[in-house]
Amino acid sequence: MTKIKSVKTKVYQWKGKTVPPQSNFCTNASDLLYEKGDNMGSFRFHEWLTCEIETDDGLVGLGNAALAPQVVKKTIDHYLTPLILNEDPFDYAYLWEKMYRRTLAWGRKGVGMTAISAVDIAIWDLLGKLTNKPVFKLLGGRTKEKIPVYASKLYSQPIEDLKKEAQSYVDQGFKMFKMRFGWGPKDGPDGVKKNLELVEAVREVVGYDTDLMLECYMGWNLEYTKHMLPKLMKFQPKWLEEPVIADDIHGYAELNNMNMIPISGGEHEFSLFGFRQLLDLKAVSYIQYDTNRVGGITAAQKINALAEAYQVPVIPHAGQMHNYHLTMANLNCPFSEFFPVHDVEIGNELFYYIFEGDPEPKNGFIDLDENTPGLGINLSNKYEKDFQIIE
Ligand code: MG
Repeated sequence: MTKIKSVKTKVYQWKGKTVPPQSNFCTNASDLLYEKGDNMGSFRFHEWLTCEIETDDGLVGLGNAALAPQVVKKTIDHYLTPLILNEDPFDYAYLWEKMYRRTLAWGRKGVGMTAISAVDIAIWDLLGKLTNKPVFKLLGGRTKEKIPVYASKLYSQPIEDLKKEAQSYVDQGFKMFKMRFGWGPKDGPDGVKKNLELVEAVREVVGYDTDLMLECYMGWNLEYTKHMLPKLMKFQPKWLEEPVIADDIHGYAELNNMNMIPISGGEHEFSLFGFRQLLDLKAVSYIQYDTNRVGGITAAQKINALAEAYQVPVIPHAGQMHNYHLTMANLNCPFSEFFPVHDVEIGNELFYYIFEGDPEPKNGFIDLDENTPGLGINLSNKYEKDFQIIE
């Protein structure tokens, strides 16, 4: 029997060059609050957690998480590691329940579940390496020839710059795009006008034979979104993402049941039970869990099965291998998000600097290698001097 011998967590803190914050580049949940400082602080995270699990036969599985890495590290080190040492990684469902049930009193959502996610992803990477198969083969295999991906950036910025950026994705062969709003309830009619101008500009470049998704990152509220929906319909968006805060599930339900624009969300929702609530209320038309928050690959597969029964497609939040392998192995995951590689800005691009092995898109598709065992990523040392690493 293979046994887990050690669990090593590290926090990567980016110390390299960073694009300075720009005003109104993306709405966020703090926008509605009067704040005395830079409220974009809540939308910038320059740290990442990695979790390496080694077995007694010397193989190492690699997992990661991006939420609150310093607290997640302590959670894994103090609470989860003792629960999985000397256990068989093939008992992944048992280990998941053990971690979940021992941390349930305080860990159900947020930091606790993020820590479980990082460990679970590392265990799945190990299972692939132990069986010499890519993870998607263990999850059911290839349900699509290649994975269509959408270019996800297009932050709010001066119109001409926005158009140039959109054109660059068209030139690279993308057929699906996601853009961000810059203004919300506090910005009044002038902000409404500016938001509409942003969408109009992108549609002008990408045309109407493409899919365009609109992202609010919880920076609106129910009233404002109801005001915006009819105005946005003419741009034929594929979805409107996270218009209100994640806890306002009845707000999501009300908006989605207006049947004007499909509402998407879920990157800040957790576990099978969280998604059951969203699905029962018909609160979202697309589910966007993030595997490194939702409970890892073990939880994601359960949510995939549930969503399939409701016929609600799942498009995991963010690129990253753990999401791609799940997308490849599930027919109900039709495509994936892709963050175009760029300078370090808000922080969700950091994984390109920490890991190597992510596939490059060609003409709007990525593919996964049949012959690379596990998830197919490794820690890179290319940018090591730009990080301070806490072990
Ligand atoms: Mg999002």
